[in-house]
Amino acid sequence: MRIARVLITGVLTGTMLFAGLSAGLFVGSTATHADVVSVDPGKSLSANRPIVGTSQNLPSVGAVATWNIGSIPAELINTYYESGSALRDQRDVATAARVWSKKWVNQTCGGMDKATVRKCKVAAVFDIDDTLLSSFPILSTNSPAFTFSQSAFDQAALACTGSVIEPVKNLYLSLQRMGVGMILITGRSESLRDSTANCLRQAGITNWQQFILRQSGDTDMASVYKVKARKSLIKKGWQIGPSVGDQVSDMSYGALEHGFLIPNPMYFIP
Ligand SMILES: [Mg+2]
Repeated sequence: MRIARVLITGVLTGTMLFAGLSAGLFVGSTATHADVVSVDPGKSLSANRPIVGTSQNLPSVGAVATWNIGSIPAELINTYYESGSALRDQRDVATAARVWSKKWVNQTCGGMDKATVRKCKVAAVFDIDDTLLSSFPILSTNSPAFTFSQSAFDQAALACTGSVIEPVKNLYLSLQRMGVGMILITGRSESLRDSTANCLRQAGITNWQQFILRQSGDTDMASVYKVKARKSLIKKGWQIGPSVGDQVSDMSYGALEHGFLIPNPMYFIP
C-alpha cells in the first residue's frame, strides 16, 4: 500500500466538496454522525457512476484551509474510532450497499435464487485495508500517530495485527449468501498473499472467487491499477455491481455499477 501525503483542498471539486463540507468529524472537537451522502465524482473520474459514502473520508474545508495528511489531529481520529462513530458510519454504508446490491442482483439475474445468481456471474469487489481489515490499531500506535511506514505496514500485515471491520465483513457474507462472487482487489503486494489470506480466513472471511494483489514492479496509481483489475475481471465474464472500498480510487474510472465508500479519515490514496 502506498500512501500519499497530499493537500486535499487542491483536488476537491463539485459534489466532492459538498461531501467534505457536510462532514461532522472535524467540526469542533466532537465526532458527530455524518449523513450518508451520494457523491458523483463526475464523468471524467468514473463514467458518472455514483458513490455512496458518509463524507468522513474528506476533511471539512471549513475547519482547515489546507489539509496535510501528516498533520491530522490524532485526537480527533482516535475519538472518531473509539466513540463508535466510525462503526455507525461503516454500518450505514454497508446497509446502503446491501440494499442496493440486492435490487441490482435481482434485476441483473432476473431472480434471487442462488443457482440463478451464480449462473449470471455477478460480482462484488472489496478492497482490504480499512475496508475489511482496519489499520487503525496499527496507525494510531505509530509514532507519531497516523504516519505511514511501508516496513511497519508490511510487518503488521504479516503479523495480522489489524482488526476486522464487522459491518463490511457482514456485508461480504450476506452478498456471498446471495450467490454473488466475492472479489478482492488490494494494493498489498503479491508477497503478502498468503499472510493476508490467512488473516482474512481467521477473521471469518473466506471463499472468494478472485484475489488480486499488486505485482512487483507495478507502479500504476491505485485508481489505475484497480480499474485495470476490474476490467480484466469483466473480460472473464464477471458483471461487477458494487465496489466497496475506503478510497475513491477503489471506485474510479468505471468498470463497476456503484461505489460504496467506507469512511477513512486517516489517509488518502490517489
Ligand atoms: Mg483500502
